[in-house]
Amino acid sequence: MIDYQQAINYIFQTIKPLAAVRVPLAEGLDRVLAEDVFSLLELPPADNSAMDGYAFAHAGLGDGFLTTIGFLPAGDHFSAFVNSGEAIRIMTGAPLPKGVDTVVPIEDTEQISDNRVRLHKRLERGTNVRYQGEELKAGEKILCRGQQLDPAAIGMLASAGITDVCVFPAPRVAILSTGDELVELGETPDNGKIINSNAHLLAACLRQDGFFPIQLGIAKDQPGKLEACLRKGLNADMLITTGGVSVGDRDLVQPTLIEIGLKKIFWQVATKPGKPTLFGTIAGQPVFGLPGNPAASAATYQLYARPALRMLAGHSQPFAPTLKVKLAVPLKAGGKRLHFLWGNLFIVDGELQFDPSQRQGSGQNRSAVGAQALFPLPIDSPALEAGDSIDIIMLNLPLGQNPSNN
Ligand code: AMP
Ligand code: MG
Repeated sequence: MIDYQQAINYIFQTIKPLAAVRVPLAEGLDRVLAEDVFSLLELPPADNSAMDGYAFAHAGLGDGFLTTIGFLPAGDHFSAFVNSGEAIRIMTGAPLPKGVDTVVPIEDTEQISDNRVRLHKRLERGTNVRYQGEELKAGEKILCRGQQLDPAAIGMLASAGITDVCVFPAPRVAILSTGDELVELGETPDNGKIINSNAHLLAACLRQDGFFPIQLGIAKDQPGKLEACLRKGLNADMLITTGGVSVGDRDLVQPTLIEIGLKKIFWQVATKPGKPTLFGTIAGQPVFGLPGNPAASAATYQLYARPALRMLAGHSQPFAPTLKVKLAVPLKAGGKRLHFLWGNLFIVDGELQFDPSQRQGSGQNRSAVGAQALFPLPIDSPALEAGDSIDIIMLNLPLGQNPSNN
């Protein structure tokens, strides 16, 4: 059986980004750039005022009085030369007229008469001037391939005249739940049936991460029916199944996937939860068979499927960050498998602490509710004390609440 690090390595070696697409800029939010981007424009297009104020030639200021000879709003221009000792009343963003080099804000002046102002304080030459090309030069590389587009990047690209961007698309992920015991939410789970909660859990994970879930419903534990359902997932960018991937008599996912062309890359990892995890590709499309137990599905999504999806989406840093934090409570010694514990992160005296969830059972959705991190308790780890320094895997931000404040 392989270990967690080997599983991660296999995923890292296998997954390549999806084919890039060109989309209108507005659709680029959260996507990763597939090419470097160069500015089409120079910004600012001309030297201009950073304030509402008076523009004048610094060298001619003399006694601190200026004669105003005109008004210039943004979007307009003033073609005449402004002589020494003269000023233009200028609004933010208006291009500086010829002859001036400095702007005094209105609030630092006093109107003496209709066309005379006095400055309250001395300014350096060039104060409140934004220079041509100071933000962007035409042709300058402004963003690099691999950069994720945040709102500020979208704004900058718009200002540079970029109407569309070449990005890696958000993966579309087919979700298939397997198990004769499952019914859909809204149906009555009688005779020992349970609700297909994994489909909801995984779709929520995918949406939170910016990917598109495609629900394939429930497949019965019967080879023919299972095969037909699995085939429906082969048009997506990734197929994720839950359940039926362990060593039980009705665990048919692996043999059926192999029948429809699965190239198996790994099955079974020495972790708890998540031991039966299956990973492979069908005609290049990544396929994950995740365990059916809800908290095991949730953990293996975070540990394997999410980084794989981030790689498909072009992220160069696909893995969740790890962080050194303090353990809030003592923990029992580790066993023969790497044991991922769900927990809450909170801040005590400016330091992050990890508080393991009360429930860690892989069969319970409740184990993972509210958790911000997974702590991989190492194989054969000695028992740990409260206050020990541990490395945790961050799942998301922001952090949770300090339980002692509840
Ligand atoms: P399996 O891996 O198929 O043996 O499933 C293990 C356990 O996970 C089952 O006994 C169910 O209790 C649970 N389970 C499997 N699939 C789901 C699902 N889609 N939603 C909720 N629980 C599930
Ligand atoms: Mg099953």
